[in-house]
Amino acid sequence: TRAENPVDFPTLDLRGRHLGPAELKAAMPRAVTTFDAATGAVEAIIKDVRTRGFEALGELAERFDGVAQDHPLVPTQALDEALDSLDPAVRAGLEESIARARTFAEAQRPADAVVEIASGAVVRQKWVPVSRVGLYVPGGLAVYPSSVVMNVVPAQAAGVASLALASPPQKEYGGLPHPTILAAAKLLGIDEVYAIGGAQAVAAFAYGIPAGEAGPALEPVDVVTGPGNVYVATAKRLVKSVVGIDAEAGTTEIAILADDSAVPAFVAADLVSQAEHDPHAASVLITPSVKLAEAVRAELALQVAATKHADRVRQALSGPQSGVILVDDLEQGLQVCDAYAAEHLEIHTEDASELAGRIRNAGAIFVGDYSPVSLGDYCAGSNHVLPTSGTATFASGLNVTTFLRAIQVIEYDREALREVGAHIVALSRAEDLPAHGDAVSVRFS
Ligand code: NAD
Repeated sequence: TRAENPVDFPTLDLRGRHLGPAELKAAMPRAVTTFDAATGAVEAIIKDVRTRGFEALGELAERFDGVAQDHPLVPTQALDEALDSLDPAVRAGLEESIARARTFAEAQRPADAVVEIASGAVVRQKWVPVSRVGLYVPGGLAVYPSSVVMNVVPAQAAGVASLALASPPQKEYGGLPHPTILAAAKLLGIDEVYAIGGAQAVAAFAYGIPAGEAGPALEPVDVVTGPGNVYVATAKRLVKSVVGIDAEAGTTEIAILADDSAVPAFVAADLVSQAEHDPHAASVLITPSVKLAEAVRAELALQVAATKHADRVRQALSGPQSGVILVDDLEQGLQVCDAYAAEHLEIHTEDASELAGRIRNAGAIFVGDYSPVSLGDYCAGSNHVLPTSGTATFASGLNVTTFLRAIQVIEYDREALREVGAHIVALSRAEDLPAHGDAVSVRFS
Protein backbone atom coordinates (compact mmCIF):
# COMPACT_ATOMS: atom_id res chain seq x y z
CA THR A 1 0.00 0.00 0.00
CA ARG A 2 1.16 3.48 -0.82
CA ALA A 3 0.89 6.24 1.76
CA GLU A 4 1.30 9.98 1.35
CA ASN A 5 4.11 11.51 3.39
CA PRO A 6 5.42 14.99 4.11
CA VAL A 7 8.12 14.97 1.39
CA ASP A 8 5.88 13.44 -1.26
CA PHE A 9 8.10 10.42 -1.71
CA PRO A 10 5.54 7.63 -1.31
CA THR A 11 6.19 4.26 0.34
CA LEU A 12 5.36 0.84 -1.02
CA ASP A 13 5.69 -1.65 1.85
CA LEU A 14 6.42 -5.16 0.60
CA ARG A 15 7.59 -6.49 3.97
CA GLY A 16 5.98 -9.78 4.89
CA ARG A 17 4.38 -10.10 1.46
CA HIS A 18 5.55 -13.06 -0.56
CA LEU A 19 4.79 -12.07 -4.13
CA GLY A 20 5.73 -14.24 -7.11
CA PRO A 21 7.72 -12.73 -10.02
CA ALA A 22 4.63 -11.68 -12.02
CA GLU A 23 2.87 -10.15 -8.99
CA LEU A 24 6.04 -8.34 -8.03
CA LYS A 25 6.38 -6.93 -11.55
CA ALA A 26 2.77 -5.72 -11.48
CA ALA A 27 3.33 -4.03 -8.10
CA MET A 28 6.26 -1.92 -9.33
CA PRO A 29 5.82 1.86 -9.44
CA ARG A 30 5.59 3.02 -13.07
CA ALA A 31 4.86 6.31 -14.83
CA VAL A 32 1.25 7.01 -15.73
CA THR A 33 2.24 8.64 -19.03
CA THR A 34 2.49 5.39 -20.88
CA PHE A 35 3.11 4.61 -24.51
CA ASP A 36 -0.58 4.00 -25.00
CA ALA A 37 -1.35 7.62 -24.18
CA ALA A 38 1.22 8.95 -26.68
CA THR A 39 0.55 6.48 -29.49
CA GLY A 40 -2.33 8.33 -31.19
CA ALA A 41 -0.44 11.62 -31.41
CA VAL A 42 2.77 9.94 -32.54
CA GLU A 43 1.03 7.86 -35.24
CA ALA A 44 -0.43 11.06 -36.67
CA ILE A 45 2.99 12.74 -36.69
CA ILE A 46 4.64 9.79 -38.46
CA LYS A 47 1.92 9.68 -41.11
CA ASP A 48 2.18 13.41 -41.67
CA VAL A 49 5.98 13.29 -42.13
CA ARG A 50 5.69 10.33 -44.52
CA THR A 51 3.11 12.01 -46.71
CA ARG A 52 4.11 15.68 -46.61
CA GLY A 53 7.84 15.56 -45.88
CA PHE A 54 9.60 18.87 -45.23
CA GLU A 55 6.31 20.77 -45.24
CA ALA A 56 5.09 18.66 -42.31
CA LEU A 57 8.42 19.08 -40.52
CA GLY A 58 8.10 22.86 -40.86
CA GLU A 59 4.63 22.86 -39.33
CA LEU A 60 5.68 20.54 -36.48
CA ALA A 61 8.72 22.73 -35.72
CA GLU A 62 6.37 25.67 -35.44
CA ARG A 63 3.87 23.80 -33.28
CA PHE A 64 6.27 22.10 -30.83
CA ASP A 65 9.38 24.25 -30.92
CA GLY A 66 7.97 27.66 -31.87
CA VAL A 67 10.28 28.20 -34.86
CA ALA A 68 9.75 28.79 -38.57
CA GLN A 69 11.66 26.37 -40.79
CA ASP A 70 11.91 25.64 -44.55
CA HIS A 71 14.53 22.90 -44.43
CA PRO A 72 16.02 21.36 -41.28
CA LEU A 73 19.61 20.74 -42.46
CA VAL A 74 22.04 22.74 -40.31
CA PRO A 75 24.54 24.73 -42.44
CA THR A 76 28.13 23.47 -41.96
CA GLN A 77 29.18 27.02 -41.16
CA ALA A 78 26.97 26.91 -38.05
CA LEU A 79 28.77 23.74 -36.92
CA ASP A 80 32.18 25.40 -37.39
CA GLU A 81 31.08 28.50 -35.51
CA ALA A 82 29.65 26.48 -32.64
CA LEU A 83 32.92 24.63 -32.15
CA ASP A 84 34.97 27.83 -32.41
CA SER A 85 32.95 29.48 -29.67
CA LEU A 86 32.66 26.45 -27.38
CA ASP A 87 33.57 27.10 -23.73
CA PRO A 88 37.04 25.53 -23.21
CA ALA A 89 35.96 23.76 -19.99
CA VAL A 90 33.01 22.17 -21.79
CA ARG A 91 35.29 21.22 -24.68
CA ALA A 92 37.72 19.55 -22.27
CA GLY A 93 34.83 17.68 -20.65
CA LEU A 94 33.53 16.48 -24.02
CA GLU A 95 37.01 15.40 -25.09
CA GLU A 96 37.47 13.35 -21.91
CA SER A 97 34.00 11.84 -22.32
CA ILE A 98 34.75 10.95 -25.96
CA ALA A 99 38.14 9.41 -25.14
CA ARG A 100 36.73 7.19 -22.37
CA ALA A 101 33.67 6.15 -24.40
CA ARG A 102 35.86 5.35 -27.41
CA THR A 103 38.28 3.19 -25.42
CA PHE A 104 35.40 1.12 -24.08
CA ALA A 105 33.44 1.01 -27.37
CA GLU A 106 36.45 -0.24 -29.31
CA ALA A 107 36.93 -3.05 -26.78
CA GLN A 108 33.33 -4.17 -27.46
CA ARG A 109 33.84 -5.11 -31.11
CA PRO A 110 33.05 -8.84 -31.29
CA ALA A 111 35.38 -11.21 -33.13
CA ASP A 112 34.13 -13.16 -36.16
CA ALA A 113 33.58 -16.87 -35.50
CA VAL A 114 35.00 -19.37 -38.02
CA VAL A 115 34.31 -23.07 -37.45
CA GLU A 116 35.12 -26.12 -39.58
CA ILE A 117 32.04 -28.12 -38.56
CA ALA A 118 33.33 -31.17 -40.45
CA SER A 119 36.03 -31.72 -43.04
CA GLY A 120 35.41 -29.24 -45.91
CA ALA A 121 32.41 -27.71 -44.10
CA VAL A 122 33.08 -24.18 -42.97
CA VAL A 123 30.59 -21.86 -41.26
CA ARG A 124 31.46 -18.31 -40.31
CA GLN A 125 29.76 -15.51 -38.50
CA LYS A 126 30.96 -12.11 -39.61
CA TRP A 127 29.94 -8.83 -38.05
CA VAL A 128 29.05 -6.13 -40.57
CA PRO A 129 28.11 -2.53 -39.72
CA VAL A 130 24.86 -1.08 -41.05
CA SER A 131 25.40 1.53 -43.76
CA ARG A 132 23.60 4.55 -42.38
CA VAL A 133 22.30 5.57 -38.97
CA GLY A 134 20.08 8.35 -37.59
CA LEU A 135 21.09 9.49 -34.12
CA TYR A 136 18.61 11.35 -31.92
CA VAL A 137 19.83 13.86 -29.36
CA PRO A 138 17.15 15.21 -27.00
CA GLY A 139 16.67 18.91 -26.50
CA GLY A 140 13.35 19.71 -24.84
CA LEU A 141 13.58 20.44 -21.12
CA ALA A 142 17.36 20.05 -21.15
CA VAL A 143 19.92 19.84 -23.97
CA TYR A 144 22.14 16.79 -24.18
CA PRO A 145 25.53 17.22 -25.88
CA SER A 146 26.55 14.14 -23.86
CA SER A 147 24.04 12.16 -25.93
CA VAL A 148 25.90 13.22 -29.09
CA VAL A 149 28.95 11.44 -27.67
CA MET A 150 26.97 8.38 -26.52
CA ASN A 151 25.33 7.91 -29.95
CA VAL A 152 28.21 8.76 -32.24
CA VAL A 153 31.15 7.00 -30.57
CA PRO A 154 29.80 3.41 -30.72
CA ALA A 155 28.51 3.96 -34.28
CA GLN A 156 31.99 5.08 -35.33
CA ALA A 157 33.63 2.21 -33.45
CA ALA A 158 31.31 -0.19 -35.31
CA GLY A 159 32.49 1.26 -38.63
CA VAL A 160 29.21 2.86 -39.80
CA ALA A 161 29.97 4.95 -42.91
CA SER A 162 27.10 7.46 -42.86
CA LEU A 163 25.95 9.16 -39.66
CA ALA A 164 23.17 11.74 -39.44
CA LEU A 165 22.10 13.48 -36.25
CA ALA A 166 18.88 15.25 -35.25
CA SER A 167 17.98 17.42 -32.28
CA PRO A 168 15.07 19.81 -31.66
CA PRO A 169 15.25 23.34 -33.08
CA GLN A 170 15.74 25.96 -30.35
CA LYS A 171 13.89 29.26 -30.60
CA GLU A 172 16.65 31.19 -28.81
CA TYR A 173 19.26 29.92 -31.29
CA GLY A 174 17.55 30.94 -34.52
CA GLY A 175 15.83 27.57 -34.99
CA LEU A 176 19.06 25.53 -34.86
CA PRO A 177 19.79 22.87 -32.23
CA HIS A 178 21.65 24.11 -29.14
CA PRO A 179 25.18 25.31 -30.06
CA THR A 180 26.84 22.85 -27.64
CA ILE A 181 25.15 20.00 -29.50
CA LEU A 182 26.42 21.39 -32.80
CA ALA A 183 29.92 21.78 -31.34
CA ALA A 184 29.93 18.21 -30.02
CA ALA A 185 28.86 16.93 -33.45
CA LYS A 186 31.64 18.88 -35.14
CA LEU A 187 34.17 17.67 -32.58
CA LEU A 188 33.26 14.11 -33.56
CA GLY A 189 33.44 14.84 -37.29
CA ILE A 190 29.68 14.73 -37.95
CA ASP A 191 28.52 17.25 -40.55
CA GLU A 192 24.99 16.03 -41.36
CA VAL A 193 22.91 17.54 -38.57
CA TYR A 194 19.17 18.30 -38.67
CA ALA A 195 17.10 20.61 -36.53
CA ILE A 196 14.23 18.18 -36.00
CA GLY A 197 12.74 17.17 -32.65
CA GLY A 198 10.66 14.39 -31.18
CA ALA A 199 8.68 11.77 -33.06
CA GLN A 200 9.06 13.70 -36.32
CA ALA A 201 12.84 13.18 -36.25
CA VAL A 202 12.42 9.44 -35.82
CA ALA A 203 9.89 9.35 -38.68
CA ALA A 204 12.12 11.41 -40.99
CA PHE A 205 15.06 9.07 -40.35
CA ALA A 206 13.00 5.90 -40.74
CA TYR A 207 11.25 6.81 -44.00
CA GLY A 208 13.51 9.48 -45.49
CA ILE A 209 12.27 12.56 -47.30
CA PRO A 210 12.80 13.10 -51.04
CA ALA A 211 14.49 16.24 -52.33
CA GLY A 212 12.07 19.02 -53.12
CA GLU A 213 11.68 22.76 -53.40
CA ALA A 214 12.74 23.11 -49.76
CA GLY A 215 16.14 21.54 -50.39
CA PRO A 216 18.12 18.29 -50.55
CA ALA A 217 16.76 14.85 -49.63
CA LEU A 218 17.03 13.38 -46.17
CA GLU A 219 18.11 9.83 -46.99
CA PRO A 220 16.48 7.07 -44.92
CA VAL A 221 18.64 5.23 -42.39
CA ASP A 222 19.00 1.59 -41.36
CA VAL A 223 19.04 2.13 -37.60
CA VAL A 224 17.66 4.93 -35.38
CA THR A 225 19.19 5.30 -31.91
CA GLY A 226 19.18 7.73 -29.04
CA PRO A 227 17.31 8.72 -25.92
CA GLY A 228 14.25 10.92 -25.71
CA ASN A 229 10.97 11.57 -23.98
CA VAL A 230 7.86 9.43 -24.30
CA TYR A 231 7.10 10.74 -27.82
CA VAL A 232 10.54 9.79 -29.09
CA ALA A 233 10.39 6.36 -27.43
CA THR A 234 6.89 5.72 -28.79
CA ALA A 235 7.99 6.72 -32.31
CA LYS A 236 10.89 4.28 -32.11
CA ARG A 237 8.48 1.55 -31.07
CA LEU A 238 6.20 2.38 -34.05
CA VAL A 239 8.92 2.39 -36.75
CA LYS A 240 10.61 -0.78 -35.50
CA SER A 241 9.41 -2.85 -38.46
CA VAL A 242 11.11 -0.49 -40.94
CA VAL A 243 14.41 0.30 -39.21
CA GLY A 244 16.45 -1.09 -36.37
CA ILE A 245 16.37 0.70 -33.03
CA ASP A 246 18.63 0.49 -30.00
CA ALA A 247 16.12 0.21 -27.17
CA GLU A 248 13.20 2.28 -25.97
CA ALA A 249 15.52 4.69 -24.24
CA GLY A 250 12.70 6.75 -22.81
CA THR A 251 12.13 8.78 -19.67
CA THR A 252 14.93 8.28 -17.15
CA GLU A 253 14.72 5.90 -14.19
CA ILE A 254 16.99 5.24 -11.25
CA ALA A 255 16.58 2.49 -8.65
CA ILE A 256 18.89 2.34 -5.65
CA LEU A 257 19.30 -0.81 -3.57
CA ALA A 258 20.70 0.28 -0.21
CA ASP A 259 21.18 -0.94 3.34
CA ASP A 260 22.26 0.72 6.58
CA SER A 261 25.82 1.12 5.28
CA ALA A 262 24.63 3.66 2.64
CA VAL A 263 25.29 7.38 2.99
CA PRO A 264 21.85 9.07 2.94
CA ALA A 265 23.18 12.27 1.36
CA PHE A 266 24.70 10.32 -1.55
CA VAL A 267 21.52 8.29 -2.08
CA ALA A 268 19.32 11.39 -2.00
CA ALA A 269 21.62 13.30 -4.37
CA ASP A 270 21.48 10.49 -6.93
CA LEU A 271 17.68 10.26 -6.70
CA VAL A 272 17.44 14.02 -7.24
CA SER A 273 19.95 14.00 -10.12
CA GLN A 274 17.78 11.69 -12.22
CA ALA A 275 14.51 13.34 -11.17
CA GLU A 276 15.81 16.58 -12.69
CA HIS A 277 15.57 15.09 -16.22
CA ASP A 278 11.81 15.07 -16.51
CA PRO A 279 8.69 15.48 -14.33
CA HIS A 280 7.90 11.88 -15.37
CA ALA A 281 11.34 10.55 -14.37
CA ALA A 282 11.35 7.73 -11.82
CA SER A 283 13.49 7.65 -8.65
CA VAL A 284 13.08 4.56 -6.52
CA LEU A 285 14.82 3.52 -3.29
CA ILE A 286 14.70 -0.18 -2.42
CA THR A 287 15.78 -0.92 1.15
CA PRO A 288 15.18 -3.19 4.14
CA SER A 289 16.12 -0.30 6.45
CA VAL A 290 13.34 1.99 7.71
CA LYS A 291 16.07 4.06 9.34
CA LEU A 292 17.84 4.64 6.02
CA ALA A 293 14.54 5.40 4.28
CA GLU A 294 13.76 8.09 6.86
CA ALA A 295 17.28 9.55 6.63
CA VAL A 296 17.04 9.70 2.82
CA ARG A 297 13.62 11.34 3.07
CA ALA A 298 15.08 14.01 5.35
CA GLU A 299 17.97 14.56 2.94
CA LEU A 300 15.56 14.80 0.01
CA ALA A 301 13.67 17.56 1.77
CA LEU A 302 16.89 19.57 2.12
CA GLN A 303 18.34 18.83 -1.29
CA VAL A 304 15.13 19.33 -3.27
CA ALA A 305 14.63 22.74 -1.72
CA ALA A 306 18.14 23.78 -2.79
CA THR A 307 18.28 22.34 -6.29
CA LYS A 308 17.86 24.44 -9.45
CA HIS A 309 15.04 22.44 -11.06
CA ALA A 310 13.17 21.96 -7.77
CA ASP A 311 9.71 22.01 -9.37
CA ARG A 312 10.52 19.33 -11.91
CA VAL A 313 12.30 17.24 -9.26
CA ARG A 314 9.42 17.53 -6.81
CA GLN A 315 6.97 16.44 -9.52
CA ALA A 316 9.12 13.46 -10.43
CA LEU A 317 9.69 12.38 -6.81
CA SER A 318 6.01 12.65 -5.90
CA GLY A 319 4.72 10.87 -8.99
CA PRO A 320 3.33 7.33 -8.86
CA GLN A 321 6.56 6.17 -10.55
CA SER A 322 8.80 7.16 -7.60
CA GLY A 323 9.22 6.35 -3.92
CA VAL A 324 10.61 3.96 -1.33
CA ILE A 325 10.05 0.23 -1.57
CA LEU A 326 10.51 -1.41 1.84
CA VAL A 327 11.64 -5.04 1.69
CA ASP A 328 12.24 -7.74 4.31
CA ASP A 329 15.92 -8.12 3.45
CA LEU A 330 18.43 -7.69 0.61
CA GLU A 331 17.37 -11.04 -0.89
CA GLN A 332 13.88 -9.69 -1.47
CA GLY A 333 15.56 -6.44 -2.54
CA LEU A 334 17.31 -8.30 -5.36
CA GLN A 335 13.99 -9.80 -6.47
CA VAL A 336 12.46 -6.32 -6.54
CA CYS A 337 15.42 -5.00 -8.57
CA ASP A 338 14.93 -7.75 -11.15
CA ALA A 339 11.16 -7.19 -11.25
CA TYR A 340 11.64 -3.45 -11.76
CA ALA A 341 14.46 -3.87 -14.35
CA ALA A 342 15.66 -0.30 -13.90
CA GLU A 343 17.39 1.69 -16.58
CA HIS A 344 19.98 2.65 -13.92
CA LEU A 345 20.50 0.53 -10.82
CA GLU A 346 22.80 1.73 -8.05
CA ILE A 347 23.89 -0.58 -5.24
CA HIS A 348 24.88 1.02 -1.94
CA THR A 349 25.33 -1.95 0.40
CA GLU A 350 28.04 -3.92 2.06
CA ASP A 351 29.20 -6.45 -0.54
CA ALA A 352 27.87 -4.23 -3.34
CA SER A 353 29.97 -6.04 -5.98
CA GLU A 354 28.69 -9.43 -4.90
CA LEU A 355 25.06 -8.25 -5.12
CA ALA A 356 25.72 -6.57 -8.48
CA GLY A 357 26.91 -9.92 -9.80
CA ARG A 358 23.53 -11.46 -8.95
CA ILE A 359 21.37 -8.85 -10.74
CA ARG A 360 19.72 -10.21 -13.90
CA ASN A 361 17.71 -7.22 -15.15
CA ALA A 362 19.08 -3.68 -15.45
CA GLY A 363 20.15 -1.27 -18.19
CA ALA A 364 23.38 -0.51 -16.30
CA ILE A 365 24.57 -1.25 -12.76
CA PHE A 366 26.51 1.29 -10.69
CA VAL A 367 28.39 -0.34 -7.86
CA GLY A 368 29.27 1.24 -4.51
CA ASP A 369 29.31 4.74 -3.06
CA TYR A 370 31.61 6.23 -5.70
CA SER A 371 29.90 5.20 -8.94
CA PRO A 372 26.92 7.58 -9.21
CA VAL A 373 24.72 7.55 -12.32
CA SER A 374 25.92 11.04 -13.23
CA LEU A 375 29.40 9.56 -13.69
CA GLY A 376 27.84 7.24 -16.27
CA ASP A 377 25.84 10.09 -17.79
CA TYR A 378 29.04 11.84 -18.81
CA CYS A 379 32.41 10.30 -18.19
CA ALA A 380 32.52 6.66 -17.02
CA GLY A 381 33.31 5.21 -20.44
CA SER A 382 29.99 3.31 -20.37
CA ASN A 383 26.99 4.37 -22.48
CA HIS A 384 24.10 6.41 -21.08
CA VAL A 385 21.52 5.44 -23.71
CA LEU A 386 19.73 2.65 -21.85
CA PRO A 387 16.46 0.68 -21.88
CA THR A 388 13.58 2.04 -19.77
CA SER A 389 10.03 1.04 -18.65
CA GLY A 390 11.09 -2.50 -17.73
CA THR A 391 12.45 -3.28 -21.21
CA ALA A 392 15.83 -4.09 -19.64
CA THR A 393 14.41 -7.60 -19.23
CA PHE A 394 15.14 -8.10 -22.95
CA ALA A 395 16.91 -5.01 -24.33
CA SER A 396 20.46 -3.72 -23.94
CA GLY A 397 21.99 -0.31 -23.62
CA LEU A 398 23.49 1.29 -26.70
CA ASN A 399 26.77 -0.40 -27.64
CA VAL A 400 28.83 -1.30 -30.68
CA THR A 401 26.71 -4.34 -31.56
CA THR A 402 23.63 -2.09 -31.89
CA PHE A 403 25.16 -0.98 -35.19
CA LEU A 404 26.35 -4.40 -36.38
CA ARG A 405 24.63 -7.37 -37.97
CA ALA A 406 25.87 -10.92 -37.59
CA ILE A 407 25.94 -12.50 -41.07
CA GLN A 408 26.50 -16.24 -41.24
CA VAL A 409 28.49 -17.49 -44.24
CA ILE A 410 28.20 -21.13 -45.27
CA GLU A 411 30.81 -22.80 -47.50
CA TYR A 412 30.74 -26.62 -47.95
CA ASP A 413 32.69 -28.56 -50.58
CA ARG A 414 31.24 -31.50 -52.57
CA GLU A 415 32.33 -34.22 -50.16
CA ALA A 416 31.14 -32.27 -47.14
CA LEU A 417 27.66 -31.86 -48.69
CA ARG A 418 27.57 -35.54 -49.67
CA GLU A 419 28.30 -36.47 -46.08
CA VAL A 420 25.07 -34.86 -44.76
CA GLY A 421 22.99 -35.36 -47.94
CA ALA A 422 20.93 -38.31 -46.67
CA HIS A 423 20.01 -36.41 -43.49
CA ILE A 424 18.80 -33.44 -45.51
CA VAL A 425 16.65 -35.69 -47.72
CA ALA A 426 15.14 -37.42 -44.68
CA LEU A 427 14.39 -34.15 -42.88
CA SER A 428 12.92 -32.55 -46.03
CA ARG A 429 10.52 -35.49 -46.45
CA ALA A 430 9.53 -35.21 -42.80
CA GLU A 431 8.56 -31.60 -43.47
CA ASP A 432 6.80 -32.51 -46.71
CA LEU A 433 9.18 -30.27 -48.59
CA PRO A 434 10.78 -32.91 -50.87
CA ALA A 435 12.17 -30.35 -53.34
CA HIS A 436 14.59 -29.38 -50.58
CA GLY A 437 16.03 -32.90 -50.60
CA ASP A 438 16.02 -32.95 -54.42
CA ALA A 439 18.19 -29.81 -54.44
CA VAL A 440 20.87 -31.91 -52.74
CA SER A 441 20.32 -35.17 -54.67
CA VAL A 442 20.54 -33.42 -58.06
CA ARG A 443 24.18 -32.57 -57.34
CA PHE A 444 25.13 -36.23 -57.07
CA SER A 445 22.94 -37.92 -59.73
P1 NAD B 1 13.19 15.45 -26.34
O1 NAD B 1 14.11 15.96 -27.38
O2 NAD B 1 13.15 14.00 -26.10
O3 NAD B 1 11.70 15.90 -26.69
C1 NAD B 1 11.38 17.19 -27.15
C2 NAD B 1 10.41 17.03 -28.30
O4 NAD B 1 9.25 16.33 -27.85
C3 NAD B 1 9.90 18.33 -28.86
O5 NAD B 1 10.79 18.86 -29.82
C4 NAD B 1 8.60 17.87 -29.50
O6 NAD B 1 8.85 17.52 -30.84
C5 NAD B 1 8.19 16.63 -28.75
N1 NAD B 1 6.95 16.86 -28.00
C6 NAD B 1 6.79 17.61 -26.89
N2 NAD B 1 5.49 17.61 -26.52
C7 NAD B 1 4.82 16.87 -27.42
C8 NAD B 1 3.44 16.47 -27.58
N3 NAD B 1 2.50 16.87 -26.73
N4 NAD B 1 3.11 15.68 -28.62
C9 NAD B 1 4.06 15.25 -29.49
N5 NAD B 1 5.37 15.59 -29.38
C10 NAD B 1 5.73 16.38 -28.37
O7 NAD B 1 13.56 16.27 -25.03
P2 NAD B 1 13.00 16.23 -23.53
O8 NAD B 1 11.53 16.46 -23.50
O9 NAD B 1 13.88 17.11 -22.72
O10 NAD B 1 13.20 14.76 -23.04
C11 NAD B 1 14.46 14.15 -22.94
C12 NAD B 1 14.16 12.81 -22.33
O11 NAD B 1 15.26 11.93 -22.53
C13 NAD B 1 13.93 12.87 -20.82
O12 NAD B 1 12.73 12.18 -20.54
C14 NAD B 1 15.11 12.11 -20.25
O13 NAD B 1 14.77 11.43 -19.07
C15 NAD B 1 15.40 11.15 -21.37
N6 NAD B 1 16.71 10.55 -21.39
C16 NAD B 1 16.76 9.20 -21.48
C17 NAD B 1 17.96 8.54 -21.56
C18 NAD B 1 17.96 7.06 -21.71
O14 NAD B 1 18.97 6.48 -22.10
N7 NAD B 1 16.88 6.36 -21.43
C19 NAD B 1 19.15 9.28 -21.58
C20 NAD B 1 19.09 10.67 -21.52
C21 NAD B 1 17.86 11.30 -21.45
